Amino acid sequence: MKPWQQILLAMVLALVAGSCLNAYATDGVTGELMPWATRLVAVFDFVGTLFMQLLKMVIVPLVFSSIITGIAGLGKVEGFARLGGKTLLYYAATSLIAILIGLCLVNMLQPGLVDGEPNAAIKEQIENNEETYAGNVVKKVEGDSGKGGAIWGIFLRMVPENIFQAFGSNGQMLALIFVAILTAIGLIKISDEGRKAVLGFMSGVNELSMLIIQWVMMLAPIGVFALVAETASATGIEIIKVLGKYFFVVLAALLTHLFVSMPILLAVVGKVNPLRHYKAMLNPLMTAFSTASSSATLPVTMRALREKAGVSNRVSGTVLPLGATVNMDGTALYECVAVMFVAQVLGLELGFLEQFSVVTLALLTSIGVAGVPSASLVAIVIIINNVGIANSEAVIGLLLAVDRPLDMTRTAVNVFSDSCGAIIVAKSEGEDVLQA
Ligand code: ASP
Repeated sequence: MKPWQQILLAMVLALVAGSCLNAYATDGVTGELMPWATRLVAVFDFVGTLFMQLLKMVIVPLVFSSIITGIAGLGKVEGFARLGGKTLLYYAATSLIAILIGLCLVNMLQPGLVDGEPNAAIKEQIENNEETYAGNVVKKVEGDSGKGGAIWGIFLRMVPENIFQAFGSNGQMLALIFVAILTAIGLIKISDEGRKAVLGFMSGVNELSMLIIQWVMMLAPIGVFALVAETASATGIEIIKVLGKYFFVVLAALLTHLFVSMPILLAVVGKVNPLRHYKAMLNPLMTAFSTASSSATLPVTMRALREKAGVSNRVSGTVLPLGATVNMDGTALYECVAVMFVAQVLGLELGFLEQFSVVTLALLTSIGVAGVPSASLVAIVIIINNVGIANSEAVIGLLLAVDRPLDMTRTAVNVFSDSCGAIIVAKSEGEDVLQA
């Protein structure tokens, strides 16, 4: 079997195993998993976490060396400015398209209303929610992502107090990217001798990181099985019944972006065959789906783009790390739909201006959201406070119930959009990509 087939099989088996645990290994009275099933889930958790850590451990050397060899390979600062400009334009445009798809669907299908009235059952759930649990989750994500959504905080997080801190900040790639770009631009300017020494070392580090990720990916079927089985065992069908319409609106919007707007962009702007790109991206898509972390998936995306799609190190090294941090189409779309849904449930009529501010905030906060699981919840707190909803923890408690499957899907969308950006930028730079 090919690697992607193994991962797909692991995912399907895990869905079946996890759902069986959820359905048949729960105590009829308490509704909790039986002790033996709890132990089994703890094993899944252990294996899944180990796999995520194996993926993440390569991020720092890979991102740093990729950016440096990528930008220095451009030879001139103007080359970097051109590439950076195209990349940011692509990122802003696709995030906006994604948000607008979400906004249209949530306004058309109104998941928070029943017969034109706010859904009383969901509203009651928000009012009765246990607030501390949701609060803890938000704090944890904030801890992981360094205040994920705070807009001005982005700049503070970008500049480390000490250059070496940029290498140790888990999950926070902005500082690493900033230091790497600065170093790379500096390298273009220094003496040939100095440049050669640093570049030689960095291209060795880059090669080595790619090799390690290749080894890690041999364990992907096991890691993916553990991650997906754990999630499936914890996500019952019950909650989807209550929040079903919301769940499907988010899903439909994400899939529309993934399978309609993205291929159109690839075909029209990139002038490439979208099917070839989906094929090249099978591994990253499945890794993103099972880990729900675009940062952890970055090494896999980088490898697939270089080896399967034929994108140069120059472009992939510059476009992808930036994308994994600032370009989150799925997240931006999700934030917008979630906030509109909560407003509908609470009977808040949002006019054009309010909706416009939701769109703008979704766009801006998605830039600051870190590529870790559930990170968008922090940004959602910021937006709902902004539109005047006070009990944000209770709201997050409600959204959390169905967050994981949606997180998996939006992370896949985030990663796919980054990869399309790399293809489109590579084509615009005259590269022959996706030849097979
Ligand atoms: N989990 C997402 C990612 O890593 C971020 C989010 O939307 O929560 O891309």
